[in-house]
Amino acid sequence: MDFDYDVLVIGAGSAGLSAALTLGRCLRRVLVADGGPPRNAASPGVHGFLTRDGIRPAELLRLGHEQLAPYETVTTQCLHIDELVRVGKGFRATGHGTADDAPTTVTARRVLLATGVSDILPPLPGFRELWGRGVLHCPYCHGWEVRDQPLAVYGQGRTVTGLALLVSRWSRDVIVVTDGPGHLTPNARRRLRREKIGVREEPLARLIGTKTGELRCLQFADGSELERAALFLHAPQHQRTTLATDIGARLTSKGAVWVDSSLQTSLPGLYAAGDTKPGTQQALLAAADGNRAAIVINESLTREECPR
Ligand SMILES: Cc1cc2nc3c(=O)[nH]c(=O)nc-3n(C[C@H](O)[C@H](O)[C@H](O)COP(=O)(O)OP(=O)(O)OC[C@H]3O[C@@H](n4cnc5c(N)ncnc54)[C@H](O)[C@@H]3O)c2cc1C
Repeated sequence: MDFDYDVLVIGAGSAGLSAALTLGRCLRRVLVADGGPPRNAASPGVHGFLTRDGIRPAELLRLGHEQLAPYETVTTQCLHIDELVRVGKGFRATGHGTADDAPTTVTARRVLLATGVSDILPPLPGFRELWGRGVLHCPYCHGWEVRDQPLAVYGQGRTVTGLALLVSRWSRDVIVVTDGPGHLTPNARRRLRREKIGVREEPLARLIGTKTGELRCLQFADGSELERAALFLHAPQHQRTTLATDIGARLTSKGAVWVDSSLQTSLPGLYAAGDTKPGTQQALLAAADGNRAAIVINESLTREECPR
């Protein structure tokens, strides 16, 4: 069977664009389906990315697209993939550009899922509005920007304890806000106390911030306010697409797309890179994953083309 492309890369974030770059350099026919903004779109800067520390997320991806231009075998298209099915040894994908566009169908010998995840924020006023500026998910990404300032850490149980202890490396003024019973063990409370981390268990009403997205204070249900420069939380996540499960690929117990040591999913020929698969979630690591997946895919295509 003739396929339109050697590789369909679904997702044009750090993982997808990095994979496309390496595959382009392997002279592979690649389609990058760019389905929209990346996970960190709300953030003012990508931190900790070697040579690009603090770059705007959109600018990082603009440079990624720009550097694909010399590779004539790589095509990038605004295309949200809605369906992925097996055909022969490869895949057929169907998607749409804008909502009004007729569906586009393409076939490819291999598919790389670089579709990322979405963060599920508490349904309280202010969390979504301040996300990425006053409400932060990761001290490695944003801790330095708010160092030595009054900080809140939101959540319950073990998760909030671990995050609060971590955040306390960046500031000595940290308060845990549990929004109701914190489900903290005596040992957790002792560890927090030892680091002088306070705990507020009253229900939270809202976060109050500036028009530009910085946090000013937390307001509790009784009307009292707590001034803080930023709030950290470990938000639950879900996959940005159900493509993996729809086609029968396995997820881990935590909802990530399961991959083997070659970044291949449980379905031969279907690979996953970046936040969508298990592991530490950072833009640079997603780019490294994309590069690694591209090499593995190119080698698998080479083996198919040059049988023993
Ligand atoms: C607020 C915030 C700030 C962050 N700051 C930092 C930071 O400072 N430093 C850092 O290293 N990391 C940071 N991160 C983490 C970083 O954003 C991720 O690790 C990184 O974006 C992962 O890259 P990715 O390519 O796997 O996924 P993404 O960048 O999310 O890209 C996935 C892409 O796939 C597309 N897509 C999804 N479904 C489809 C589909 N069906 N068809 C076509 N396309 C599809 C999406 O539109 C998206 O463009 C931050 C995260 C958040 C939430």
